[in-house]
Amino acid sequence: MNHLADFADSESEVRYYCRQIPNLFVKANGSLVWDAEGTEFIDFLAGCGALNYGHNHPKIKSALLDYLHADGIGCALDLHTGAKLAFIRAFRDIVLSPAGMNYRMQFTGPTGANAVEAALKLARKHTGRTNIVAFTNAFHGMSLGALSATGSNRAREGLQGCLDGVVRLAFDGYHGAGPSDLERFAAMAEDPSGGIDPIAAIIVETVQGEGGLNLASKEWLRSLREVATRLGALLIVDDIQAGCGRSGRFFSFQDAAIAPDMVCLAKSLSGGGLPMSLLLIDPSIDTWRPGEHNGTFRGNNLAFVTARAALELWSGSDFLAEIAIRSAMLDRWLKDLCVRYPRTITRKKGIGMMAGFECCSPALARDISQEAFKRRLLLELCGPRDEVVKILAPLNIDLSVFREGLTRLAAAVDAVALEDAKKPDLAA
Ligand code: PLP
Repeated sequence: MNHLADFADSESEVRYYCRQIPNLFVKANGSLVWDAEGTEFIDFLAGCGALNYGHNHPKIKSALLDYLHADGIGCALDLHTGAKLAFIRAFRDIVLSPAGMNYRMQFTGPTGANAVEAALKLARKHTGRTNIVAFTNAFHGMSLGALSATGSNRAREGLQGCLDGVVRLAFDGYHGAGPSDLERFAAMAEDPSGGIDPIAAIIVETVQGEGGLNLASKEWLRSLREVATRLGALLIVDDIQAGCGRSGRFFSFQDAAIAPDMVCLAKSLSGGGLPMSLLLIDPSIDTWRPGEHNGTFRGNNLAFVTARAALELWSGSDFLAEIAIRSAMLDRWLKDLCVRYPRTITRKKGIGMMAGFECCSPALARDISQEAFKRRLLLELCGPRDEVVKILAPLNIDLSVFREGLTRLAAAVDAVALEDAKKPDLAA
């Protein structure tokens, strides 16, 4: 590991994942990655949800290589390009039209937070209001607007004065919260003496990816839609992590059959890990003036090419069926694990291929992730105290690799549970 000093001396203290996983990675294919020493890892981290189709998917890779060989345009601001046109058409034909959706597309700066910033800004501009409703354990990104809607104190530390304009509500299930809490809030907001300034937008993740794989019920999401409409506020679904198939369908809110006014997409949209962000806007609220929100890299043509190739995987029912098979396998495995380790694991969390388990303590979760790493399995923790072990395998992971990854994770849990059982029971 003689690369460590180079990074430690030259890269900012802000680096994070590499502190837990210090290896030098040099190659990746599908659900496998290799470090410089040739050690092979199974990837249940998948770029934090940016690699739903795995690393270097052959169809996505060859679309990109063909485009580069043909001297395709890389950066074109928001000029019309063939690559963008092909993406727009594919997104309309493969995703929006079959779902009966009609959204305008705004290509924002390349990272997820850029789409969130654009959504909050448009909501405020369109409604002439400032207040945004966001939820406990929400994560929407690290730029100031997105951070104001993010719950984590760790992320907000030291910036409190810069994060105004957000009303925090309890997410579905948070200490028993449900639709009646939304109703109470709506009554307060409608009460001329309720003390709530008019709401521009409500921003929500249907599954809180960083916040602990908390899942909103369909009923709660429908109430949220009704409350937003009643208050004249726009409903923004942040589908940056839960979208692009992670929760089972292309959009995570499709099963709830709600129609958000705006949808944020990023992460796996480009298909192969290239930066690309998209804000979907209901045409009736697309009140931007030309150039009112811009940015140099809001049209990554290389990403348009890979994103289009990724969308083509969705045309036909096979891909959905493949996700369903893996989701069911994961669900069974998680339920079994919860039964086998009641002193280590409290419950299964999440949905689809965005699932995991909550441990009885953050220390147990940390130990499990370290044991998993020793067994050449990459994954991360989430939740307010990093108490949830998160499994984000690629959606198309080879079934035998998936089984092997889960076997390694079960062995990691077993090792930690065994060690934990040796400790004296202080409660006794
Ligand atoms: N929104 C959600 C739900 C996310 O999970 C993330 C990143 O994890 C973001 C926004 C921010 O995206 P990015 O890190 O690409 O800025």
